[in-house]
Amino acid sequence: MTIKKQLIQLPVSDDEGKSISIIAHFAKELNIETYLVGGHVRDKILGRVSKDIDVVVVGNGIEFAEKIAPGFPECSLAVYKNFGTALLKRNDFDIEIVGARKESYRSDSRKPIVENGSLLDDLSRRDFTMNALAISLNESDYGMVLDAFNGLKDIEIKTIRTPLDPDVTFSDDPLRMMRAIRFATQPNFRIHPQTFSSIQKNKGRISIISQERISDELNKILQCTKPSIGFDLLFKSGILEIIFPEFVKLYGVELLEGKGHKDNFYHTLQVLDNVCDRSNDLWLRWAAVMHDIAKPDTKRFEKGKGWTFHGHEVVGARKAERIFRRFHLPLNEKLKFVQKMVLLHLRPIVLSKEQVTDSAIRRLLFDAGDDIESLMMLCESDITSKNENKVKRYLENFNLVREKLKEVEEKDKMRNWQPPITGEIIMKTFGKPPSKEIGIIKDAVREAILDGVIKNNFEDSFNFILIEAKKSNWLPVNEK
Ligand code: ATP
Ligand code: MG
Repeated sequence: MTIKKQLIQLPVSDDEGKSISIIAHFAKELNIETYLVGGHVRDKILGRVSKDIDVVVVGNGIEFAEKIAPGFPECSLAVYKNFGTALLKRNDFDIEIVGARKESYRSDSRKPIVENGSLLDDLSRRDFTMNALAISLNESDYGMVLDAFNGLKDIEIKTIRTPLDPDVTFSDDPLRMMRAIRFATQPNFRIHPQTFSSIQKNKGRISIISQERISDELNKILQCTKPSIGFDLLFKSGILEIIFPEFVKLYGVELLEGKGHKDNFYHTLQVLDNVCDRSNDLWLRWAAVMHDIAKPDTKRFEKGKGWTFHGHEVVGARKAERIFRRFHLPLNEKLKFVQKMVLLHLRPIVLSKEQVTDSAIRRLLFDAGDDIESLMMLCESDITSKNENKVKRYLENFNLVREKLKEVEEKDKMRNWQPPITGEIIMKTFGKPPSKEIGIIKDAVREAILDGVIKNNFEDSFNFILIEAKKSNWLPVNEK
């Protein structure tokens, strides 16, 4: 096989240029064939900023990295012996150096047998033609783009295609199927039909991939501008059914007595894209993914009325935890945030329909706390009607809710509010140990303030607990 060579002028920043000439200098000194490769070359050709630099040397990558490290006194060197790679790390970018390798795989594992190889061996074990380009840093053809698999053409026509038979590439490392879909989630890129058929054929192999790597790719898809493209491709390839069956259950419409409901799969994807137009927050994007996840579990047909999904927000918040656990996503405040969004996602809609009372607004502010803005963004994104007038009207209603929220917050400061009476105070006042009753009285104060029955101050709250406690024949210590 011949490798085509072509000289292409590519923009290089000062920093990059400096690093590259240091690498080239050592390559010459040590007489080692050295190339820029991978995502760095691809992004350069696409005119994108590329943070990291990927380098391949024909020889021992770690030894080469150790020898050139003194040329980069501001970098720290990390060596990964198991992978045969070395990283020169700087604050703003990494230089990854690896020896050219040849890989062969067994069918039952994704751990390859790795041997030293030529540049061509190394390029052919890469995932896509656009990721299998190299730029020479060697004296004889310095700066030439080396293209063994028509990667330049594929970048031009924005096509994702494997360098070898796709069945081989995907079977060797099935995560590449998700990487293909992630690259295709960028606008205007498409997966070559043969490559896509191979993904459909090899989808089952995804099960040998660790959950961490799968979730990592899913998060990368979610961080694209229009993740719906990726989710739809995951669905059409059959991979989504394997990795996220709960999501696939949202697909489809049922019709009874002439009444249908919307397709919650495509609705969710639309909501997700809408959220992405408003926010880069990965966890709000996860909330969009999950907001209707329990609709299939709660779906009922009520005679004469139509389809209902009562309680899907409560069941959905519970399901979110199971899904986060399986995906090895963080079970800390990130999960809590997603659960809160799922649980509350219907509340602003209710407020936009009814005559809104201050107490309903106070309650929402109290329940959503600092996440109220995220919740409003999710709710606004949840409007997916094709009727533009309807969308406009609903958004206007939400604007009214926003105004009301602002007004009540300014007046009552409910966002991070805590009731003025604590459990401690109640126990001290009545000389009681901790018990269920203390909790009941404490909750009653909170509810009374949220409902506007009493004012949000210590005095009113204290008088209120005296009355409440009397119901259980409790007297304050100083009156006993
Ligand atoms: P990004 O950095 O945006 O995630 P990338 O293509 O740069 O995308 P990296 O993980 O940085 O991905 O990998 C650098 C290069 O290594 C890729 O461009 C590709 O040539 C190769 N590569 C990465 N992962 C795989 C894989 N699973 N199979 C084959 N080649 C891969
Ligand atoms: Mg990269």
